[in-house]
Amino acid sequence: MYDPRNKKLELLTLQAFERRLSANHPMKQAVLKDLKIKYAEVNGENEIKYRLQLIDKQKFIVLHNLRLQDEVGYFQMDTLTLSNYFNTVVETKNWEGTVRFGANGQVTRIDNNGMKEGFQNPIDQVKIQALRLKRWLKNHDFPDIPIEYLAVISFPKTIIERETPQDIIPHELIHSSDLVFRIQEIEKNYTTPILSRNQLHHLARLLERSHCPVDVNLFEEYGVRSIDMVKGVFCTKCGALPMNRFNGKWYCQSCKNVSIDAHKHALRDYRLLFGEWITNKQARYFLGLSSPDMTKHILRKECTEMVGMNKGKKYRLGL
Ligand SMILES: [Zn+2]
Repeated sequence: MYDPRNKKLELLTLQAFERRLSANHPMKQAVLKDLKIKYAEVNGENEIKYRLQLIDKQKFIVLHNLRLQDEVGYFQMDTLTLSNYFNTVVETKNWEGTVRFGANGQVTRIDNNGMKEGFQNPIDQVKIQALRLKRWLKNHDFPDIPIEYLAVISFPKTIIERETPQDIIPHELIHSSDLVFRIQEIEKNYTTPILSRNQLHHLARLLERSHCPVDVNLFEEYGVRSIDMVKGVFCTKCGALPMNRFNGKWYCQSCKNVSIDAHKHALRDYRLLFGEWITNKQARYFLGLSSPDMTKHILRKECTEMVGMNKGKKYRLGL
């Protein structure tokens, strides 16, 4: 299984970003909303990966979160299965509640609170990805291998229904629990291998090499400045800010909690948001400390590597 994207790390970073964004910041609600979506994405992806453990690995190669470039721009496929006979593009939908198909394939999602929201038909979406992949393969001189497509509802409890008896639920829309079985069903339609074993592995490697990662910068994305981030060490017990360092320990004024290493969480936030290298001055500012020596003591303990001298000294955070 190939997955160049680490959605769990994306989730951790967004959590740190939200935690450090002050409650009255104008982007707070937008970040909270996206955090909810990111949770669902990670859960949905775990569900799909779990289901695909059952797929025959002798026959299929599974790739996740592949993003390719073509003449139109970029296209991303949540999951792609490759075999000698056919490929399948899988689009994952992390929809909870009820999904209703109406006239002209219109999709409405009704969440557990009864809120309605309209969505683009997932089959139209995945069909376009399949078409772009077909063209991409042609441009890379691969034989014309059939490309199947599926839209998968990741959460098993989601109800899929029709608006009226005349409306149609697309055959390509399935629950994640059916994913492997559907691919096995599709497999029966193909009896002629298009790619040799070598060609198949060559294709997988080419796809992996052609992946174009997205460089996400949360500060740019939300138009938030780094100075809008809340500094200090959160209390490990009650979450209050800031804890104060005294005699080698952190003290919470709100709940009187005492901690030896509450700074670890703050440095982890720093690492997720600003990168793994930190100077004494940056750490002092972020942890809310006044003493360079105290900061040095902490950094020496928490770092895995040091480079530079004196004021230019940088510590690599190993948290
Ligand atoms: Zn506390």
